[in-house]
Amino acid sequence: MNAPAIVWFRNDLRISDNPALTAAARTGAPLVALYILDDESPGEWRTGAAARWWLHHSLRALSESLAGRGVTLTLRRGRAHYVFEQIVAETGADAVFWNKLYEPWAIRRDAELEAQLRDDAVKTHCFQESVLFEPEKLRTKLGENFRMFTPFWRACLASPPPDRPLPAPESLHAAPLPPDSDDLDDWRLLPQNPDWAIGMRKVWLVGETAARAELADFARHHVGDYKVERDFMGRVGVSRLSPHLHFGELSPREVWHAISEPQSIGGEAYLRELGWREFCHHLLISNWDLPDRPLDRTFERFPYRDDETSLDAWRNGQTGYPLVDAAMRELWITGWMHNRARLVSASFLIKHLLIDWRKGERWFWDTLVDADLANNSANWQWVAGCGADAAPYFRIFNPALQGEKFDPDGAYVRRYVPELAALDVRYIHRPWAAPEDVLRAAGVRLGVTYPHPIVDHTEARERALAAFESMRTQP
Ligand code: FAD
Repeated sequence: MNAPAIVWFRNDLRISDNPALTAAARTGAPLVALYILDDESPGEWRTGAAARWWLHHSLRALSESLAGRGVTLTLRRGRAHYVFEQIVAETGADAVFWNKLYEPWAIRRDAELEAQLRDDAVKTHCFQESVLFEPEKLRTKLGENFRMFTPFWRACLASPPPDRPLPAPESLHAAPLPPDSDDLDDWRLLPQNPDWAIGMRKVWLVGETAARAELADFARHHVGDYKVERDFMGRVGVSRLSPHLHFGELSPREVWHAISEPQSIGGEAYLRELGWREFCHHLLISNWDLPDRPLDRTFERFPYRDDETSLDAWRNGQTGYPLVDAAMRELWITGWMHNRARLVSASFLIKHLLIDWRKGERWFWDTLVDADLANNSANWQWVAGCGADAAPYFRIFNPALQGEKFDPDGAYVRRYVPELAALDVRYIHRPWAAPEDVLRAAGVRLGVTYPHPIVDHTEARERALAAFESMRTQP
């Protein structure tokens, strides 16, 4: 009888368009499906709390769809090296199939693991699926890594287009005796006491089937308006596919093909955002210290402040700036935040409060269901002004103006900052400017029911620019 082949699921928690699964199935070998909760290898970047909630449900969904094809998903916890020693010994497997990851810790771990398995005469087969264009193959004309998005995206578009997605394998041949599995509930990926996931359960359907339905709905009804609607926080303008993409419940090429045909202006704008995802991966793979060190090293001497009180006010959505507070509460309640809100709230932390971007990056890491090392670190650096093709430092968002422009009726603020829900639209983004009788009519008492702004916008802006200048002129 054939020795079993192991399919190692990682951030590719799906059956369709999964090259590792398809290739393993094609060998005809009996399959062992494996997921490892390896919290040691990533170190500080182990999956954060909100993403663990997502992971639980995604594993449940994958396990059910594999079970529907007669295959048991084996769950094991620990360093991948140890788990493989055990599983190979228990099953006698002679091949392992996986899809590639781009986190530096994963690249290092997988290379070591490959060597270990080779020593044990186990063949490894690695596939590329989590990005559209191999990020390490794209180079400038001078053979260097890209530091600017536009030429990077041009190079992507000049490459052969992404292949068509693979269908789910028609049949899977399971190993007769699957290895013992941990019980998913024992992993305690869900919050216990308190249960902070109530809001997340209300807004998300997790897993491959739900992801595909979301994609179909977005491609059918919303992508046409994406270019205009994507900036408005209170509306259904964006796809909310980021956690599905991060956990690989959908492959980016499935999204690419669903959106690019028929061609539309909205579709083109959407593919460009997928391009930013590619660019972030390119940046991470060519700068392994992206999560920790500013790409522009001048910023290593930026005079950030230690201010735990303001950091807490920001985390808790109590800054007195309605848009920033709505954003931070959306994050806390749903595990996700609209892109425009991410830009404004991150900019507020870094520029209004002069707090180190790495503190915000780490808070997002723990609270986002779509927390992704490449996207998160590259975007935080972009907002901080120290990243590749970054926003110039002096671009300091005015949260009240951003609110008036991109949440004109205040729907977003009213949803997440209910203590301001009845406030006149003229003041919804600047309650501090409202006359006393307007506040009273809306039941708002500044400093009691809703905070006064923790910093004055104009003063904070000047302080940020002075800090930038001092960094630049310091020898
Ligand atoms: P859509 O507008 O529907 O875009 C489609 C897809 O394109 C997204 O799902 C995402 O995969 C990709 N995308 C869109 N914008 C970006 C971008 N700026 N950078 C990279 N990819 C993008 N995205 C994450 O997936 N994980 C993160 O941890 C993350 N952290 C961020 C932190 C900050 C400070 C900022 C400013 C942005 C961050 N983003 C992150 C990028 C972006 O905000 C989200 O990808 C987007 O809001 C997800 O919502 P959506 O799926 O509705 O996006």
